[in-house]
Amino acid sequence: MSEIEQFRSRARKWLAEAGIPGVPLDLEERFAVLRDWQRTLFDAGWMGLSWPCEAGGQGLSPRHQFVFAEELARAHAPAPIGLIGLDVVGPSINAFGTPEQRARFLPPLLSGEEIWCQGFSEPGSGSDLASLRTRAVRDGEDYVVDGQKVWTSWGAYADWCALLCRTDPAAAPKHAGISYLLVDMTSPGITVRPIVQMTGDPEFCEVFFDGVRVPAANLLGEENGGWRIALDTLSRERGNYTMRRRVEIEWMLADAVAQLRAIPESRRADPRVAEEIGKADLALRVLEAQTRRTLDRLTADTGADPLDSIDKLVLNDTEQAVCAAIAELLGPFRVAPGTSPLGLDAGRWVHDHYYSRAASIYGGTAQIQRNIVAERLLGLPRG
Ligand SMILES: Cc1cc2nc3c(=O)[nH]c(=O)nc-3n(C[C@H](O)[C@H](O)[C@H](O)COP(=O)(O)OP(=O)(O)OC[C@H]3O[C@@H](n4cnc5c(N)ncnc54)[C@H](O)[C@@H]3O)c2cc1C
Repeated sequence: MSEIEQFRSRARKWLAEAGIPGVPLDLEERFAVLRDWQRTLFDAGWMGLSWPCEAGGQGLSPRHQFVFAEELARAHAPAPIGLIGLDVVGPSINAFGTPEQRARFLPPLLSGEEIWCQGFSEPGSGSDLASLRTRAVRDGEDYVVDGQKVWTSWGAYADWCALLCRTDPAAAPKHAGISYLLVDMTSPGITVRPIVQMTGDPEFCEVFFDGVRVPAANLLGEENGGWRIALDTLSRERGNYTMRRRVEIEWMLADAVAQLRAIPESRRADPRVAEEIGKADLALRVLEAQTRRTLDRLTADTGADPLDSIDKLVLNDTEQAVCAAIAELLGPFRVAPGTSPLGLDAGRWVHDHYYSRAASIYGGTAQIQRNIVAERLLGLPRG
């Protein structure tokens, strides 16, 4: 048995005995359960598998990380709560942080002791991120931050924020005046206002910064050098997240098909159900083919790549196709809030269906990904 297959069977055995938690629909309860779950995974040595040992990780490869994500999904085990830290911000701190920053921030990020959010988008700056206006002005040993972020996922739960802010208002081009600060969310002057999504969860937030003092030691990389790190973070959001999400969606479809048995024969025989499931399965196979190359890129650690945008686009389409197929499968039982009269997990599927609508927005919209493909992969003129 190859080393990676031995690793897989060790993971499978551990998960079989692990006492996997159920995931409550209520956001508060879900957060608490998934944070405990992250701690359990960390204590057992399953977190940060592909991170260097000195950063608190296990020093293995992205392939190990991916195999463990596959086994988690196969075991119907949830992902840990701190995904923004784990998949998105943490890898950038690891790549661009000083030894002191890596030692301070990465171990509690892995254990779930500290949860991270990503303060990039602003009311007037989403797709055109480089136009952001949140200001940070150096004052002695601190930066003083004023401004507003929006759509900050897990902002109300986060202990730390990866904040993009303008440190040189006169810089041209605009992205040359942006810095990347690591901000303690308990700092005086921060106000967080949750926003309820269509799923009913207040998962993302508005975050206001009013004279917030951030130690200059919490600058990641160089002053005015934050754009390069932001691109790295966004690329991780597309690459790492796609790998993890792919296996979750595969199992989502498998679960839904298994639930078909509970559906009346007349509905099961409806050709629209078969057609939607067929389309979803096809989309998944395209995603699988696409992500085979992603794993090679992550293993080679070649950094931000416009190919990440193709991953993100294929993931969007797949997630939305799978959730649409499941909605078709549930038919009128979708209105049931919890378990449907037929024993289907209607509440879960409806929640996932609504959330899938966001897949073509977060991490950069589908239109922006297509622009990147057109301009950077195909060499078309900038629009
Ligand atoms: C569930 C969810 C979670 C999120 N979490 C976070 C988070 O944790 N942190 C964070 O910082 N942000 C987060 N976001 C915000 C997300 O990154 C932005 O919503 C996204 O980048 C789009 O920005 P915008 O909303 O300002 O839309 P806009 O940029 O105003 O775009 C509006 C529409 O115009 C289109 N458009 C804009 N420019 C172009 C162009 N040049 N060419 C073609 N079409 C264009 C867009 O595709 C879109 O359809 C989250 C969003 C969602 C939905």
